Amino acid sequence: MHKILVIEDDPLVMDNVIDILELEDYDVLSAVNGLEGVQRALEHAPDVILCDVMMPLMNGYEVLRALRADEQTATTPFIFLTAKADRSDQRHGMELGANDYLTKPFTPRELLQAVTTRLQQQTAVAQKYQAQIQDISQKAQQQLYQDAITGLPNRLTLGDRFADAVTDYRQEPESNRLLCLASLRIDRFSSLQHDLGYGTTDQLLHAFAQRLKTRFSGHSIAQISDAEFVIIFKPLAHKKEVTTAIQAFQADLNRPFLIAQQRIFLAISAGLTLYPRDGRALRELLQHAQTAIAQVEKQGGNGCEFYSAILSVGKAPRLYLEAELREAIAQQQLHVQYQPKINLKTQKIESCEALVRWHHPKQGLVSPGRFLPLAEEVGLIDSIGEYVLAVAGQQMRQWQQEFGQPLQVAVNVSSRQFNRVDLRQRVLQILVESGLAPECLELELTESTLVSDFTVAKRRLEAFRHLGIKIAIDDFGTGYSSLQYLQQFEFDTLKIDRCFVQNIHQNKGNAAITQATIEMAHRLGLTVVAEGVENQAELEWLQTHHCDFMQGYYFSPPVNGSEFATLLTSSAMAPLKR
Ligand code: C2E
Ligand code: CA
Ligand code: CA
Repeated sequence: MHKILVIEDDPLVMDNVIDILELEDYDVLSAVNGLEGVQRALEHAPDVILCDVMMPLMNGYEVLRALRADEQTATTPFIFLTAKADRSDQRHGMELGANDYLTKPFTPRELLQAVTTRLQQQTAVAQKYQAQIQDISQKAQQQLYQDAITGLPNRLTLGDRFADAVTDYRQEPESNRLLCLASLRIDRFSSLQHDLGYGTTDQLLHAFAQRLKTRFSGHSIAQISDAEFVIIFKPLAHKKEVTTAIQAFQADLNRPFLIAQQRIFLAISAGLTLYPRDGRALRELLQHAQTAIAQVEKQGGNGCEFYSAILSVGKAPRLYLEAELREAIAQQQLHVQYQPKINLKTQKIESCEALVRWHHPKQGLVSPGRFLPLAEEVGLIDSIGEYVLAVAGQQMRQWQQEFGQPLQVAVNVSSRQFNRVDLRQRVLQILVESGLAPECLELELTESTLVSDFTVAKRRLEAFRHLGIKIAIDDFGTGYSSLQYLQQFEFDTLKIDRCFVQNIHQNKGNAAITQATIEMAHRLGLTVVAEGVENQAELEWLQTHHCDFMQGYYFSPPVNGSEFATLLTSSAMAPLKR
């Protein structure tokens, strides 16, 4: 019920007004002079005040001034009741902040009309304020819990979501379900930000977040820094579901972002952790995810890796692994496998890639992705790299003599190895010892190896090329500035990364990029090798589009020396001719 305060010294007028208002169910308060009126107004906070002008003790203007000065009544609708029809008086009242003027005598209708109009206005104003307040608090809430650029939940929200996920997980009846947390970091983000400027980067981040939301809808996503995102997956049955989802997202990123008329490619490195296997606290899981990301980044980024305690930077496991690895080198647990590269024109094995393997006495075959990052970090990569070079060099020379073919071998060179001043010396020594011709040796480098010091890298590369040694750019397309590298360095071979080759016959984006890459490489005089060819359809697409070489499981996985020799002798090109 609305409260109306009537301030009027004339009892007749007062009674009349009270009657009219009470009939309409208003709650009416009265005051017989100005002073009492102010008191009652402050005490009862009425919804509307009706006030006479000419009164003893305090006139209507003084009442109004007093009420407007008080916070509580500053905006209460105020209507003057007066016998005076003088226009200048009316204006005086309005200037002081009155909302309306009723001239006595007024009809009940005029009075009620004036009151309802004011009440309606008051409600509208209140609603508007209410909406504004809600809006402001919502925005504050958003700022507190969301990233300002992408609108994704932030670290604060992540904590809540994680707690919810753990609660749900604990209630899951099936004990064999997995709760997985993935951390995704945009590769080379700071140099990207530097090159593009902040405005464009913001747009890019926004667009990136959209793709992330689309791909991982249904799971919990949060952004914990500019370039770092976390996904808490719904409980899953297999680890594979996570890697498949991440790889699908990595494939989404093969489609460039079009921002400010630029085509920008992004790649991400992902670290995956499992609750509670890798930790029970969010902080712990995030830390482990970082460790896994660091491993991926060391291999050039654009990949994903589950955290494994063996990779931990925590002293004990790493030291242990390091000791084991040293022993592995000493005890010759490291082996070299060879993966054939087929010339698509001659359909012959003309080359191969040497890939290192660790036959761990207890763990079995340990993949290079697991031990090379550590080897790189602690310097063991130098001896591993030299070992692979020496073994592969000798092996090639032997096969060349045995089969009378000019077989070529490609050896991966890590960043650290490439930056060694004596690398050229060591390579030369190996060539001399094995008797392998320099043009039969190719060094595979990734873009990340070349980024640290452009001038030095360029000089080193040229020095190798002057010796006749070939240089390949590996995992091409996974770094955002790849095109730039092609023009600045002189390479002999370009290896298109597996992520582009996958489903190339169906993925229009990948097909367009690869076709353009092949054309451009050819124009620059480079030989193109497609990595990771897994089926006939991919192979046919590559043949149609004039790719020079293929390497992949479809023809053969990496195999040991004797198996490779068998491949060389048999007419094992069968799959290509199917
Ligand atoms: P990479 O240089 O890109 O080598 C190609 C990787 O793709 C190999 O993995 C190979 O087994 C795999 N691969 C080949 N064909 C297919 C296919 O059709 N499908 C799929 N899914 N994969 C295929 P691998 O042997 O595990 O090596 C991983 C990485 O470790 C290599 O990537 C390379 O960067 C590094 N690496 C291996 N050996 C050496 C080495 O002797 N020295 C150095 N510095 N790095 C090495
Ligand atoms: Ca390689
Ligand atoms: Ca590669």
